Amino acid sequence: MVQGAPPEYYPQPVCVTCKYNENDCLLNRGIPCLGPITADGCGSVCPNHGVPCFGCWGPAEGANLTSEFYLLKEKGFDVDAIKKRMANYSGSKLHTFFEQLKKESK
Ligand code: SF4
Ligand code: SF4
Repeated sequence: MVQGAPPEYYPQPVCVTCKYNENDCLLNRGIPCLGPITADGCGSVCPNHGVPCFGCWGPAEGANLTSEFYLLKEKGFDVDAIKKRMANYSGSKLHTFFEQLKKESK
């Protein structure tokens, strides 16, 4: 930035590049991946090598955390495992969502 080259902005999620790279989706192999809610820019380097995205680039624009939660749940992942996996995204909104979910399941 000092040299007048601001970082590039990638609004789309990692899944977009992952699909361009013709990877088989890890979710279909029973591996929880945060590609749908993570900002692109890394070239989907982890899924390219069979490793799930854990969200190091931060949330994609408009990332829908609750949809990701239900997607992972639908794929059969354990709720506690999902919460751990999504810990990087544990802002107050997500915390409130998990608390509400706990109340509903009682
Ligand atoms: S492997 Fe991950 S990044 Fe690739 S399409 Fe599936 S969920 Fe998205
Ligand atoms: S964990 Fe980071 S480097 Fe790996 S796919 Fe996700 S955003 Fe890219």
